[in-house]
Amino acid sequence: MARRVTVVTGGSRGIGASVARRLAADGHDVGVGYVRDREAAERTVAGVRASGARAVAVRVDTSDETQVDAFFDTVTRELGPVTGLVNNAGVTGPLGRLTETSTADMRRVIDVNVLGALYCARRAVLAMSRRHGGRGGAVVNVSSAAATLGGPGEYVHYAASKAALDALTVGLSKELAEEGVRVNAVQPGMITTDIHAAMGDPGRPWRHPERVPMRRPGEPEEVAGAVAWLLSSEASYTTGAVLRVAGGL
Ligand code: NAP
Repeated sequence: MARRVTVVTGGSRGIGASVARRLAADGHDVGVGYVRDREAAERTVAGVRASGARAVAVRVDTSDETQVDAFFDTVTRELGPVTGLVNNAGVTGPLGRLTETSTADMRRVIDVNVLGALYCARRAVLAMSRRHGGRGGAVVNVSSAAATLGGPGEYVHYAASKAALDALTVGLSKELAEEGVRVNAVQPGMITTDIHAAMGDPGRPWRHPERVPMRRPGEPEEVAGAVAWLLSSEASYTTGAVLRVAGGL
């Protein structure tokens, strides 16, 4: 049987790095995307290889269509035809109310979180859909609990971008259901990664434990498990699902 080849955007750090390592343990070869932190991407690649899987790290800003195409070209050349995509790369910009949010930050969030995911999904579908000569596959979009909570006072623009990702998930799942491609999403809650420091508040995951019914933030591995299941044959009848992974939030 041909090996599964899965593209993970933002695979250098946080949830994406954890997903890449978990998929390797499940028998996927992994294309690891990163945009700035090459050393972190190389660490992910080493972790993937330690499981006996193949990996390649590629610098790609997913908001740039040309770079997305080059990323998929490299992964296909080095690892073989793509059978899976984890649309994980995402940004928030600084925490703040909408009136404090700059146009540049809003635009960046939409460019990366929405357009970037659309570019990657389109390219993956062209590789995987039976309509286009592929052998099927699966997409998992990394959304956020913010998509339904709305992120008031923190990042309404980011919440809106993640709600768009959920709509993408539902629509594309129906568009591709007969073509051998499943499309699902996870909505993580508060997960311990660098993203909170990038927002300007490294201690954010621990600041309000009472807001999370489980009274603790989640670990990237706890999201990776859900992503891995959605990509697996165990989820063969699951498409269009948006799975909350948020400790009850
Ligand atoms: P993180 O630790 O900040 O890592 C972000 C990853 O995305 C890094 O690998 C980074 O690459 C990459 N990236 C950033 N901008 C990119 C771009 N324009 N093109 C390509 N790659 C880019 O974030 P995280 O917490 O793991 O978040 C991963 C996903 O989960 C995001 O979509 C986020 O919105 C979502 N999420 C996170 C949480 C949470 O609490 N952590 C909750 C809900 C949803 P470099 O390493 O090269 O910078």
